[in-house]
Amino acid sequence: MEPRKIVVLGSTGSIGRSTLEVVTNHPGQFEILALAAHSNTELLAEQYRRFRPRYVCVANPAKGRTLADSLKEEPVEVLTGESDLIRLAGLDTADLVVNAIVGAAGLRASLETVSKGKNLALANKESLVAGGPLFAAIMAKTKARILPIDSEHSALWQVLACGKADEIRRLILTASGGPFRDFPPEKFAEITPEMALRHPTWEMGPKITVDSATLANKGLEVIEAVALFSVPPENISVVIHPQSIIHSIVEFIDSSMVAQLSMPDMRLPITYALFWPKRVASGFGRLDIADVGKLTFEEPDLSRFPVLKTAYKAAQAGGTAPAVFNAANEIAVAAFLKESLAFNKIVDVIEDALYDLKVVSSPAIDDIIEADKKAREKARRKVGKLVCC
Ligand code: NAD
Ligand code: MG
Repeated sequence: MEPRKIVVLGSTGSIGRSTLEVVTNHPGQFEILALAAHSNTELLAEQYRRFRPRYVCVANPAKGRTLADSLKEEPVEVLTGESDLIRLAGLDTADLVVNAIVGAAGLRASLETVSKGKNLALANKESLVAGGPLFAAIMAKTKARILPIDSEHSALWQVLACGKADEIRRLILTASGGPFRDFPPEKFAEITPEMALRHPTWEMGPKITVDSATLANKGLEVIEAVALFSVPPENISVVIHPQSIIHSIVEFIDSSMVAQLSMPDMRLPITYALFWPKRVASGFGRLDIADVGKLTFEEPDLSRFPVLKTAYKAAQAGGTAPAVFNAANEIAVAAFLKESLAFNKIVDVIEDALYDLKVVSSPAIDDIIEADKKAREKARRKVGKLVCC
């Protein structure tokens, strides 16, 4: 079989690096056509030397010259800026595009991939959260598919092969609960970025790690599941499962529950997406179930983690509301990481952005971009008003 030709956007991040590890572990199966990232030119140049793609792209224009200089003797086209990155997202010669960019910055790229009729292996959940209403119509026309990399959605996708859409009663997303599951609520204001960046079961980029600590990540994942599986938010639940062994569960109408289990290792869902529709032997993530011993479950405590409740409100409102939720969360998390916003105020910034919101219920791309922009402005103002700790 011909190697599958892939483009990796966000190649220098946690998911991007794991994707390249999966590629390395399956010699001859993939050809990397293009690699793109935001600003880590050193790692991008190193990845170029290992995978020899035809194109590399650094989204940050100021970093373009550095990358071009370090690769000037090489047979590679060095691109810079968002428009070049979007060009790569729809590259004619690609069989599959992996979007591992963080944040709504990945939205245009995701839309470009599916608009060009290419399958999209999607880690960048924020693009689906913000642009959810746009994807279905495009994909119906181009026949492109989204192959989820997010572990919960990969689990649901695998489990849903056991039944039909009208046999689903409920999707149950599992959540580790993050590092503050048992932390005293009165001390939430004292949580520092360093504390929030220590996740108990997953090693990830900083934004998603903070999202996991507030449970905003699970909120984003509820909205992501609505967009991927056309199941309404009231039929999607979240359960805390601290061992992160069960990655999600589908409850069917006959009350059977079917789950997917594996070690918490992102290389597994990445492998599943890259090889889909085939399953291949993988050396990653084998599970000794007797060794795990105990799997536990509990309801999420919404008084401690109010962001999850806010995410459900945004999901119910639909249209542009999830884009607002996501944009305000991005601003709040960035402010928390810079120590200019207290951990327990992240929710206030998001609530403020959603307050009094006029939802556009069947938005076009411009409505989404506008909602995202306005939410960021409002969130920045709110952060400015909230004095840190
Ligand atoms: P990360 O911070 O480690 O990496 C982000 C990547 O995106 C980097 O390569 C960076 O250069 C690139 N990037 C950032 N801004 C960009 C921009 N404006 N234009 C182009 N590239 C840009 O993040 P991560 O943990 O790898 O997460 C990536 C995505 O995958 C997120 O949406 C996250 O929610 C999702 N995800 C991650 C994990 C995980 O285990 N890390 C699990 C599930 C889902
Ligand atoms: Mg996840």
